[in-house]
Amino acid sequence: MLRAVGIDLGTTKAVIAALRRGEPLALAGVDGSPIVPAVMGRSPEGRVLVGHAAAGAPREGELCTPDGQPYTAVERMALFLALLKRQAEQALGEPVRRAVLAIPVYFGQAQIASLLEAAQMAGLFVLRLVQSPLAAGVAYGLGRPGARPQTILVFDLGGGCLDVAVLRLFHGAVVPLALCGDGWLGGNEFSDAIVAHLIRQLQAQRELVLDETAAARQRLRRELRVYAEQAKVALSILEQTSLHVPGEVLGLPGEIGEVLTRAAFEGLIGPRAEDALALAREVAEASGVPPEGIDGVLLAGGSSQVPLIETALERQFPRAALLRGLNPVLGVAQGAALLAGTLEWVECPNCSLANPIEREACQRCRAALAGEERLFCPECDLPNDARRPICWKCGASLRQAREVRREAPTCPVCGAAVQAGAASCPACLRPLGKGDAGGPRCPACGRAAPAGASSCPACGTLLAPFVGGMASHSLGLAFPDGRMDVLLPRGQALPSPRPALREVRTLADGQTELEVPLYEGEHPWARENARGALHLHLPEGLPSGTIVEVAFALDRDGRLRVGASLKGDASADVEAILHWPV
Ligand SMILES: [Zn+2]
Ligand SMILES: [Zn+2]
Ligand SMILES: [Zn+2]
Ligand SMILES: [Zn+2]
Repeated sequence: MLRAVGIDLGTTKAVIAALRRGEPLALAGVDGSPIVPAVMGRSPEGRVLVGHAAAGAPREGELCTPDGQPYTAVERMALFLALLKRQAEQALGEPVRRAVLAIPVYFGQAQIASLLEAAQMAGLFVLRLVQSPLAAGVAYGLGRPGARPQTILVFDLGGGCLDVAVLRLFHGAVVPLALCGDGWLGGNEFSDAIVAHLIRQLQAQRELVLDETAAARQRLRRELRVYAEQAKVALSILEQTSLHVPGEVLGLPGEIGEVLTRAAFEGLIGPRAEDALALAREVAEASGVPPEGIDGVLLAGGSSQVPLIETALERQFPRAALLRGLNPVLGVAQGAALLAGTLEWVECPNCSLANPIEREACQRCRAALAGEERLFCPECDLPNDARRPICWKCGASLRQAREVRREAPTCPVCGAAVQAGAASCPACLRPLGKGDAGGPRCPACGRAAPAGASSCPACGTLLAPFVGGMASHSLGLAFPDGRMDVLLPRGQALPSPRPALREVRTLADGQTELEVPLYEGEHPWARENARGALHLHLPEGLPSGTIVEVAFALDRDGRLRVGASLKGDASADVEAILHWPV
């Protein structure tokens, strides 16, 4: 069986989960925590550090390989995904080559395209991208078989972004009615408000002169953040908390000692919390559901537990119950894992054929339907094709990495050598995931189903949820006067119900290249939106004014797909390539 995991890719952290004996479990790393901070840094020797290893490491300046080449955005993402993949493999004791990725709603074409490229580089085949509030809806909704249909508002406030969605939950289906994401507004801003408050306190101490160099300010903020985070968490349960920051920590003669009350904290975060609540109102309005029509509010994300937010949401949606059935930090990853374990089909990225989930290569075109094996460069750490003799990025020899890989697999718990494919460790007897059915637990009869089973083999209960998607940004071209010509509007269901068609013309005899600027966003002036480009490669010898017909559509993952052909000559070869600069 090909093991698939669910990954919650937040802006500040990631969580991986997988189905074990039917339950979606968050997989902890070597440090015991399932939360992997999305940070990178440099070791004293100049090596790139990712995740926990990078906490506290210097992050200033550009990240470069040991031979001085900067890592691109896609390569940095690939390093992070490779770390998550390895963490999952260590926790499960078997290779992980497929994943369902839960992404923030604000992600646009540039982020989606570079994420998919990075996943492929890391050796992860993406079964599906799912917007994180929908994954939260799956985690919440799958556990309630037979319940009546419900309309819920998901309020997912992570560290660095806010996602809001109104979902309709049916038996076996999660359908978005409206959703919106804000990539700037996150729970970290609440901690930042406390940090700013603490710095004001320090500045008010007359005898104290703060070192105002950029590096010193950054260091001070970093130190204070730790205390601010603790205070924020404490104030979600307690009415007040004492904040004491000793002078040694600050490298200052003064110190901070005060009692922060919840009321004072709410005063500090008030404006940003109001922005977050305004987004919830906006999405509820866009869904067409009146406030009394919202049956429940599902809080997700580590920062949604702030009481100010909870009470304001309760006031806004008077009939809604606060739904508690979801782990706010792990729930999105668990929903992605449930989806990964119940998908019956895998779509070929090359020819779009739906293949049975157990296929490793497409039945029609032989394209790979699982992540390919990777070797990690001993110098720059980037994943490489396992057949390469030297690293494609830095040229280091991969011989050593290949030898390490040839060694027998080891038990993730005790380190004893285990036989490939063994069901449990011969030394510590821990089950190794092999033989685990890989599907979810049937909510009706409690049996764990095999991966890809759409219904419970024992009692017939429907297991595989239908999970819809919704375009979170408008996509279009520019009219000659510069206004946005919207092709695929925001709020459209995914995949696009029908393609949007446009005609473009060549401007010269024999023209073989045509570039069409694309725009993504809601601004009425095209140039104010995010930009991309469609490059068309045309056959030779076409006269000026030749019409090229272009069809635009979003796929189930929200990625733009384009097809192009010559008007009146469908057999002519027109290649269409999309570019979304990061
Ligand atoms: Zn195919
Ligand atoms: Zn390398
Ligand atoms: Zn063992
Ligand atoms: Zn059953």
